[in-house]
Amino acid sequence: MSEAAGALGILGGTFDPLHIGHLRLAIEAREALGLAEVCLVPAGNPALRDAPCGTPKDRLAMVERALASLPGCSVGPAEVLNSTANPAPSYTVHTLQRFRALHGPQRALVLLLGADAFARLEAWHRWHELFDLAHVAVATRPGHDIRVGAGDTALDAEFLSRKGTAADLAGVPAGRIVPFAITALEISATAIRERLARGLSVRHLVPDPVLDYIESHQLYRTPHGH
Ligand code: ATP
Repeated sequence: MSEAAGALGILGGTFDPLHIGHLRLAIEAREALGLAEVCLVPAGNPALRDAPCGTPKDRLAMVERALASLPGCSVGPAEVLNSTANPAPSYTVHTLQRFRALHGPQRALVLLLGADAFARLEAWHRWHELFDLAHVAVATRPGHDIRVGAGDTALDAEFLSRKGTAADLAGVPAGRIVPFAITALEISATAIRERLARGLSVRHLVPDPVLDYIESHQLYRTPHGH
């Protein structure tokens, strides 16, 4: 595919379950950064956290249902589909390598992260290589500052040397870090799972098709989701 295809946003996540914070991030990233499309990529076996409560199949199904009526957004199922045959952790560097191979060396790829995920980036597998494969755009999230440090950690140094604006994204395929603001929604999948385990409503915190899926499959009904 050529550069003319427009920048492609990639939003990885556990999506356990998908909630409206994820959807607003995808929608507002597309608008603020001028992305042609945003692809949501549910992790197969997330590396740096406890095993998800929802199975890969359920988490993928919820993302698919939520996106059915959302123009400009698509689902990347490969990590979930691979995880059934392969229990190895899913690493973002491999996801980006796959997208780069699919879309060619010229297309701008933009990895979308919330501020909390960006703050932990140094713990990610081969994190330095992410900037060779894609731009990184960091969305505001309540309770988490976007790092604007003094360059005293490796991530600070990357931030200071790579920091750019939305206008920088289309010109090159990878390598910039672009902070951007989205509607502040203090919503997390953890809080949603906790509400469900206590028998409380999550209506309007998750899209209706996700709520229907959770109810019909009786997900997240115990504190550990099992
Ligand atoms: P959990 O509570 O289980 O850790 P989560 O709500 O953080 O889950 P993830 O699937 O881990 O959801 O998040 C995927 C991506 O979406 C991450 O980059 C995260 O920072 C971002 N994100 C999730 N919720 C929000 C939100 N409310 N505002 C901004 N970014 C968000």
